[in-house]
Amino acid sequence: MAGIYIHIPFCSKRCIYCGFFSTVRQEEAARYVGALCRELQLRKGYLSDAPVKTLYFGGGTPSRLTIDHLGSIISAIDSVFGLSHLEELTVECNPDDITPDYVCALRAFGVNRISMGVQTFNDNLLTFLRRRHTAAQALEAVRICRDSGITNISIDLMYGLPGQTLDMFRSDLETALSACVQHISSYCLSYEEGTPLQVLRDQGRVVPATDDLCARMFTLMCDTLHAAGFDHYEISNFCRPGFHSRHNSSYWDGTPYLGVGASAHSYNGTSRQWNPSDLDAYMTAIEHSTPQYEIETLTPADLYNEKLMLSLRTAQGLNLSALSSNDRHSVLQSAENLLNNDSLILENNHLRIPEHRLFISDTIISTLFKS
Ligand code: SF4
Repeated sequence: MAGIYIHIPFCSKRCIYCGFFSTVRQEEAARYVGALCRELQLRKGYLSDAPVKTLYFGGGTPSRLTIDHLGSIISAIDSVFGLSHLEELTVECNPDDITPDYVCALRAFGVNRISMGVQTFNDNLLTFLRRRHTAAQALEAVRICRDSGITNISIDLMYGLPGQTLDMFRSDLETALSACVQHISSYCLSYEEGTPLQVLRDQGRVVPATDDLCARMFTLMCDTLHAAGFDHYEISNFCRPGFHSRHNSSYWDGTPYLGVGASAHSYNGTSRQWNPSDLDAYMTAIEHSTPQYEIETLTPADLYNEKLMLSLRTAQGLNLSALSSNDRHSVLQSAENLLNNDSLILENNHLRIPEHRLFISDTIISTLFKS
């Protein structure tokens, strides 16, 4: 089993906080799509013929592509890797790109999941973030997706926004629930290096939310979404039963995946490799059939640390049966204090972080790492 991730870097304008690789040079879309299709051919052997179960278009803003462009990429994937085993096909969309015709065309290509970057339903905060949609547009986009037959809709929310109060975030959660989506991903705002938001913070023109407020928002989110029947299956991800993201879950359980496009990462069980975060460098190299990428071969300690980092972010936790006896002994020894102070739970041969400690999971997990 394997997954394929396609990076579509185009955005019509840049959000204030964005640290992803994206560009407003949408005039390059046709050339970029040609490069993607070529890269798929060049990397035909990467997944060693494992059946492709999930396909994910992320960005950037994949919904900036025309239907013809998306269709030609999906056809190229089908002809190179085969899509007869596909279970989940997700396209990230921006609410202002959603129309009934667009969603119907996506469905005709087999898209069965749409993930929408909503971030908040507060129009003032949306303007501050330089998002391109309003709260009303986001709700309308969810309605269009649902009415067009998409039965698996995810939205992204953010918390810890400057000026956002607990009540404002509560209102966002309630609005999200009233929209009847199946999945919610919710992230605490981070101040990424080189973003306009970071500059504003460094100039003292934006005051970040305190850690205490962010922690209270996290607790509010867990309580509100649990009460509404959502499963909290990964630190930032909640779903109605059965609607977890198959694609993202495969990142957390170590399934190999191929990432295609500028800045895309790939993993084959022994190494990670990533393409240049540079549109021209990426396209030129592919057009000359000489893909440029960096590669990191993972040592046994890297693989162990990654397994801990990824699995302990999930509700299922770390399966001790999947470790060698040495690694099992090692992790249980390092976990002793954390088990005693209620920062870890050992249950059914799985080690996991209780929900009330998930907000500080990075600190907990790093104490278990091998050097
Ligand atoms: S839409 Fe997404 S990728 Fe594009 S600028 Fe905004 S946050 Fe970044």
